[in-house]
Amino acid sequence: MTTEHFYLQPATLDEAMEMAQANEHDFRFLAGGTDVWANRFQGNETASCLIDITGVGALKDVKRIGNYLSIGSLVRLHEMNTHEAVRAEFPALITAANSVGSPLIRRTATLGGNILCENRCIFYNQSAWWRDAVGLCLKCEGNICIATGSKKYCFSEFVSDTAPALISMDAMVEVVDRAGVRRIKLEDIYTGDGLRPRNLDKTALVLAILLPLEQQFRSVFKKLRQRESLEFSSLTTAVSVNRYGKVKMALGGVDPKPVVVEGTLESDRAELIKQALKKARAVDNDMYTRNYRREMIAVFLNRSFDALLPAGAPPD
Ligand SMILES: Cc1cc2nc3c(=O)[nH]c(=O)nc-3n(C[C@H](O)[C@H](O)[C@H](O)COP(=O)(O)OP(=O)(O)OC[C@H]3O[C@@H](n4cnc5c(N)ncnc54)[C@H](O)[C@@H]3O)c2cc1C
Repeated sequence: MTTEHFYLQPATLDEAMEMAQANEHDFRFLAGGTDVWANRFQGNETASCLIDITGVGALKDVKRIGNYLSIGSLVRLHEMNTHEAVRAEFPALITAANSVGSPLIRRTATLGGNILCENRCIFYNQSAWWRDAVGLCLKCEGNICIATGSKKYCFSEFVSDTAPALISMDAMVEVVDRAGVRRIKLEDIYTGDGLRPRNLDKTALVLAILLPLEQQFRSVFKKLRQRESLEFSSLTTAVSVNRYGKVKMALGGVDPKPVVVEGTLESDRAELIKQALKKARAVDNDMYTRNYRREMIAVFLNRSFDALLPAGAPPD
């Protein structure tokens, strides 16, 4: 029996939502497709219906809404630095976006797709014949996590690079689903379960990412990877300080969800780093070892604090 495949192209938000609800048993939204197509090629993504949302113009705006800068989910990563407000208030987002993939990928990939890109693991992101030969893992219908031997938990890594930068600057996401439109703190959409990394409704469409304006963020973004291009993160750190001295750190690549720690400029730096290390459940499922990535967490965070603290600030 062959499965029928559908490729749908809504022109409006309403059409997109109708199509999603009509196909909710087995569909995937398609934005830039740079994550979806790679996963389909490897047999890890098999939805029979693709809903290509790139024709929905309402998702491409960058505009001020109240005290927020709203960046449409379809804004492409390479476009970030063409927006004056992003350049002026959120340069860390540009640095993060520029660290994704390669120039060609950034011209195709969208911000919405980036915060929702699939978790990764060296035992999962392989061709179908490789996975068959080694044995299927929990994330692809096997019954054991190859990295840890667990029969319950999947530790595939959260790898979006823009999400840590956005979270460190208190980003919210605006989402529409069958219950209507709502705003959620970006970190709250991630579950920490590598099998089902996000807790959004099946039909949820991300409309925009919202960043609070006039916070005078100072941020440092760092990414550990084996080469400077075409490489997913083995550790991403973003540390931001707002105008009131609130410090927010968000880490990617070392847990199935972003690791988030908050403090103030007066907080004990060593204590904040300790909290991050405690939360990061890195396992050996990456090109770099777990131990090395954990050591690099402290190195990256210490360097970020050095850069952010004004000269003469109290030492840790
Ligand atoms: C060689 C290579 C290198 C890469 N390197 C990196 C890297 O360094 N860092 C990194 O973060 N990523 C990397 N990626 C992954 C990917 O390119 C990016 O995450 C990209 O930003 C995904 O955006 P997209 O628009 O292509 O998403 P898509 O592939 O279209 O979608 C990704 C996911 O988001 C969902 N989705 C997209 N938009 C919406 C929306 N508005 N509402 C609801 N769901 C939506 C899709 O259904 C899908 O589940 C790489 C990919 C490749 C192939």
